[in-house]
Amino acid sequence: MAGMKHQELLKGLIRLHILHHAVEGEFYGQWMIHELARHGYRLSPGTVYPMLHSMEQAGYLRSRPRFVAGKTRRNYAITAKGRSALAAGKEKVTELFGELFEDA
Ligand SMILES: [Zn+2]
Repeated sequence: MAGMKHQELLKGLIRLHILHHAVEGEFYGQWMIHELARHGYRLSPGTVYPMLHSMEQAGYLRSRPRFVAGKTRRNYAITAKGRSALAAGKEKVTELFGELFEDA
């Protein structure tokens, strides 16, 4: 696992960010790995794929295989439960982090 500082603490925020992009449209794992890297989160496939899988198990995402250029790729899409989790997450982040930044 490529080390990410404070990984356990940040995983919930990363999951919310994944849902944020899933709302915009279907994505595949490698795309999300690049997107997270763009934000400064260098996560290995060994971290991101299990995360996507567990989010699917929890009902936040659904996936289907896509055949692209002779290779199978798994595309992920948000579910209704994922949408409501994102809405709840945004509300909590605003509330909790609003207070964090008040004293800054
Ligand atoms: Zn992003």
